[in-house]
Amino acid sequence: MVFKEIYCQDCDIILARYNMVYFSDSNIAELVRLHYPSHVKSGHSLMVRISEIDRTSSVEINETK
Ligand SMILES: [Zn+2]
Repeated sequence: MVFKEIYCQDCDIILARYNMVYFSDSNIAELVRLHYPSHVKSGHSLMVRISEIDRTSSVEINETK
């Protein structure tokens, strides 16, 4: 499953994840402005990046300890 993540480079946090099937780029831009105005007003670098859940979970399965 593929998600779009809203990531703030200045705070180094993921603000939100949206399923790509349900949210277009313009939807997401609007959601960011509505829900995270403090980051936008502070001039933080917000970016949208693609996150694949399947790839993430396959990493977690590996034994690292
Ligand atoms: Zn921020």
